[in-house]
Amino acid sequence: MSRQNWEVVIGLEIHAQLNTASKIFSGASTAFGAEANAQASAVDIALPGVLPVLNKGAVERAIRFGLAIDAEVARKSVFARKNYFYPDLPKGYQISQFELPVVVGGQVTVRVGEGLSGENRAYDKTIRLTRAHLEEDAGKSLHEDFHGMSGIDLNRAGTPLLEIVSEPDMRSSAEAVAYARALHTLVRWIDICDGNMQEGSFRCDANVSVRRPGEPLGTRREIKNLNSFRFLQQAIDYEIQWQIDTIEDGGKIQQATVLFDPDTGETRMMRSKEDAHDYRYFPDPDLLPLVISEDWIARTRAAMPELPAAMRTRFEADWGLSAYDAVTLTASRDTAAFFEAAVAAAGAALAKPCANWIMGELAARLNKAERDITDSPVSPAQLAALVGRIADGTISNNAGKKVFDALWNEPDSVVDAIIEAQGLKQMNDSGALDAIVDEVLAANPKSVEEFRAGKEKALNALVGQVMKASRGKANPTQVNEVLRRKLGA
Ligand code: ADP
Ligand code: MG
Repeated sequence: MSRQNWEVVIGLEIHAQLNTASKIFSGASTAFGAEANAQASAVDIALPGVLPVLNKGAVERAIRFGLAIDAEVARKSVFARKNYFYPDLPKGYQISQFELPVVVGGQVTVRVGEGLSGENRAYDKTIRLTRAHLEEDAGKSLHEDFHGMSGIDLNRAGTPLLEIVSEPDMRSSAEAVAYARALHTLVRWIDICDGNMQEGSFRCDANVSVRRPGEPLGTRREIKNLNSFRFLQQAIDYEIQWQIDTIEDGGKIQQATVLFDPDTGETRMMRSKEDAHDYRYFPDPDLLPLVISEDWIARTRAAMPELPAAMRTRFEADWGLSAYDAVTLTASRDTAAFFEAAVAAAGAALAKPCANWIMGELAARLNKAERDITDSPVSPAQLAALVGRIADGTISNNAGKKVFDALWNEPDSVVDAIIEAQGLKQMNDSGALDAIVDEVLAANPKSVEEFRAGKEKALNALVGQVMKASRGKANPTQVNEVLRRKLGA
């Protein structure tokens, strides 16, 4: 049915697991993959008489996040008990923040789309954040390994989370994905979360509603626990169409929590509003209010790295990169650092070719080898040397690929030595080139005639012949010039 008549409204809740060594209220390790319950302390399993002690590192990370999104870091926030029963929650409540969260407001500006024109034309969109609060994760029920029983693993119980809640500002799945990606980049950039989505360190709940333009907000359904950007996109797109179809068929949307099934690509109801919990929140009497001093905030601010948005702007302004290039190169701090090191070695004038090699050949190789840019066999300085030799005409772009191959396969090799050893130097001797061109013109009278008769394409054939005769060492631009001169064009 017609999507044009409908406006989509999306708000995201993202759970980022904070990368502290120990849990938010106990000293137990947060390392992933340990044997079940090996990392569940007396506090995590809620033995009588134990008391939670707040992990300062978790608070520090929340402050960093607040500063990164230009939010208010609350000078005083409060931990509350969120009461519900579930086998993986030994205390019978989760410690979270409710009325007074640690981070209030803020916004991020994201780039949506990649195209230069048309439907996929890129644009900037600012999304406001409502809040971000600290809380503990629950444990995990295991239903597969035990016959007729469920296992409980409490290793994850008490793992620190930052729940990041957006305003309902997104208007399409593309905007929601761009926002989720930007936050994913940001939390890794400021080193508060490892971003590992397979391990559940970064998961999204998407609240989706539709309305006719001008109407008040429609009733939303919340899609729980999306752990990949592809699923986020698919789930939202399916949900939008389902809601539109339902309303256009005369139905009404009931507020509900739904799950996305990646196998069918559909969402299905988990619980309706009627079964919604009453969590009976109240301040946790075991924990003092969290008070953050001006001094702590100032010290944290001083230690913040340059943020991706600022870096993007700088790459565009100083080095003339396109918005697309700037976004790609700031997808992670390591990629940005690699690029900056390459430009520092190659010179600002070669920023664009450095960007192209990093986003092209290098990214493809790293991807194929499943290697991170931090252990790239080709260093920024080597890449800069390669780019420099193409720029100064020593080698062609094609020969550059061969040099790159050699650099990749033999770490610590030197660009100039590879060029020498493989005989990749372009022909810069104009006498030799003149001679080859004369031979080619004499051997191809038909192409010469066609070109003179106005057929531009015939020149390409001649360029090809010259390149072949020079065994690829002639400079194509120079070949073009010499040919045109000799043909009196
Ligand atoms: P809850 O605590 O019940 O999940 P909140 O009011 O905190 O509800 O909202 C959760 C998320 O839902 C927020 O990201 C918010 O922006 C989003 N949201 C609220 N109303 C709507 C709506 N009508 N359509 C889409 N998203 C919405
Ligand atoms: Mg919610």
